[in-house]
Amino acid sequence: MFNLLKIVKNTGDVTVKYPFAPLELMPAFRGKPEYDPKQCIACAACTMACPANALTMETDVKAGVRTWQLFVGRCIFCGRCEEVCPTHALTLSQMFELAVTNKVDLYERATFSLCNCRICNRPFAPRKEVEYVMALMVQAGIDANVVNTRRSLLETCPECRRRQNILDKNNIILNPQSIWRTDDDAE
Ligand code: SF4
Ligand code: SF4
Repeated sequence: MFNLLKIVKNTGDVTVKYPFAPLELMPAFRGKPEYDPKQCIACAACTMACPANALTMETDVKAGVRTWQLFVGRCIFCGRCEEVCPTHALTLSQMFELAVTNKVDLYERATFSLCNCRICNRPFAPRKEVEYVMALMVQAGIDANVVNTRRSLLETCPECRRRQNILDKNNIILNPQSIWRTDDDAE
């Protein structure tokens, strides 16, 4: 009996006082994904990586908008969204008390306007994503004026760009073998 009491005394408290006192969490604890719509460029990387389909994205071509949505009820707190987000718009917080009285409170949404193709006028990509690509080019060292001159190209949908490339005579190689000719061949 004396030994048992000694063990209990040496062990100390093995339970926590939560919910009567705040729960101490590990720094790497993965709680509710925190979303910053200002940082988000609606690239859809997180929605493709989310294994639980908690993140979804819908494009309304008629209205020219794309809606990003998080349904916390499906989230398994795996952290994949945080890993793939290129702009740190998603980070897993330490929030774990997520009970709500109304299911709609488990949803978070953000709407983004789409950029219309300069040629066919179809919306094809989020406006913020196009601006992000241009900012990246400047960050990579390309002159801002040069990047601006490429704006029309960046604001053209992939289909129209492909068609333009095919129709541009400079892109047509009449003698494909000529591109493989080296100086040695010419001698
Ligand atoms: S933490 Fe995992 S399950 Fe939750 S939203 Fe992110 S990717 Fe989806
Ligand atoms: S990956 Fe990041 S930037 Fe892209 S849609 Fe998701 S939250 Fe937005």
